[in-house]
Amino acid sequence: MNAPTSAEDWRARAASLEIRNKIFIDGEYRDAVSGKTFDCVSPIDGRVICQVAEGDAADIDAAVRAARAAFEDGRWRDLHPRKRKRALQKLADLMRAHQDELALLETLDMGKPIRFSGAVDVRASADTISWYAEAIDKVYDEIAPTGPEARALITREPLGVIGIVVPWNFPMLMACWKLGPALATGNSVVVKPAEQSPLTALRLAELAIEAGIPAGVFNVVPGFGHTAGKALGLHMDVDAIAFTGSTEVGKMFMEYSGQSNLKQVGLECGGKSPHIVMADVPDMDTAARAAATAIFFNQGEVCTAGSRLLVAREIKDEFLEKVMASAQRMQPGDPLHPKTVMGAMVDDRQTERVMNYIEAGKAEGAKLLCGGRRVMEDTGGYFIEPTIFDEVSNDMKIAREEIFGPVLSVIPFDTPEEAVKIANDTIYGLAAAVWTSNITTAHRVSRELRAGVVWVNCYDHDDITTPFGGYKQSGFGRDKSLHAMEKYTNLKTTWINLG
Ligand code: NAD
Repeated sequence: MNAPTSAEDWRARAASLEIRNKIFIDGEYRDAVSGKTFDCVSPIDGRVICQVAEGDAADIDAAVRAARAAFEDGRWRDLHPRKRKRALQKLADLMRAHQDELALLETLDMGKPIRFSGAVDVRASADTISWYAEAIDKVYDEIAPTGPEARALITREPLGVIGIVVPWNFPMLMACWKLGPALATGNSVVVKPAEQSPLTALRLAELAIEAGIPAGVFNVVPGFGHTAGKALGLHMDVDAIAFTGSTEVGKMFMEYSGQSNLKQVGLECGGKSPHIVMADVPDMDTAARAAATAIFFNQGEVCTAGSRLLVAREIKDEFLEKVMASAQRMQPGDPLHPKTVMGAMVDDRQTERVMNYIEAGKAEGAKLLCGGRRVMEDTGGYFIEPTIFDEVSNDMKIAREEIFGPVLSVIPFDTPEEAVKIANDTIYGLAAAVWTSNITTAHRVSRELRAGVVWVNCYDHDDITTPFGGYKQSGFGRDKSLHAMEKYTNLKTTWINLG
């Protein structure tokens, strides 16, 4: 089939899509035990794409039992590492071969532009799976230097059954950041996708079977957070939860763990990332483009969004002119049009939430420079203009709370020390950036910023080789890189007496 090149092509492809809408347990699709379903609504036009089986505690229990059986009989964890590697590589290859289909599912389901769902989401997801596949037979265990009377082996062992709970902003990529290391280390998984975006995870599970990953290893239960998500968090036979989502729900998973079996919890939560532009910014045009992309990419629905722009007062007006010009080029459009760079908000609830923050910004006295309106309402979809507020102070609601939409708060500062103080004055610590020509400032500020990722003279640079995660209430534990494998393994020390 030829690659679609226009919105019409994509719509034609969408009309013939075969959508997987059932729970996937033990290698098979099935209805929910309750028989219930929920509407899967496309934010592009507000239409119902399909009915999805609504999993709850009974389905989570069935999925965990299937995952446990697969783990205990060793069908995956005891497979020769070379074979596990091949299966995961095949899964990555299948994802690449199905790039258009997966991209289309992602765009229809959560509204991001089709140009990014293929070139960014599917590619990065497949690359993540193949990178961890490669790691399977490259990571060695340890022998401790204990002396001649004994030998102490330090080995990493898979935890068992991992519950993977993910959000809707990068549905497939967030799942793959966890699936890659969890499966590579030999675990079985139960994925609970966000109710707003279950479709790619359901398709991925089927591709995993085609790739040779045994039935029962990779299960997917779509459903709501307060039912299916909670049941996974409270399940007595789940060994760990790998969560990405809001800080509020992350805290609940800590509680679920305490109320049940003390399962391990890894949390990738929210952010309110400071993007600092010093007066000696090396290239104002590049920095301004980066500042706009940092907040408006993916409709602002990005955990690392540079949502607080801290600009040296002496260059602020000139700099903001350039940021606004970039924002102007990022107006929302039809997500299925290959040229569109800003798509739809995920649903009506998120749209209302973002619009409420825009109203709060106005009410608190911030100066609306551009945007601020819901647009394209005649499509039936959910679109919001790129919005910039100037003269924001760091104690305003729009500077303190994660909006998760295309809303930028601009905060002026007078000295680098003041910039760092404002930057760190937040409950979050996921990411931060600083633009400066001075190498001492670059090092000093990046050392002082309390964030899991700091960018100097760039924003959103990303590679699977680097760990990703937060300080403070942005969570703990790391996705990506070899460090992520620590989340899915236990360390065992085995003493062998040589005396
Ligand atoms: P959310 O916390 O509402 O939902 C995330 C997942 O948790 C979903 O699958 C949801 O069904 C489930 N859930 C919701 N309520 C639950 C409950 N009571 N019990 C158990 N599970 C429950 O987040 P969201 O709105 O889907 O996504 C946006 C959030 O995700 C933002 O805060 C964003 O910053 C964060 N995020 C973080 C990262 C990161 O890597 N740090 C990446 C992407 C998104």
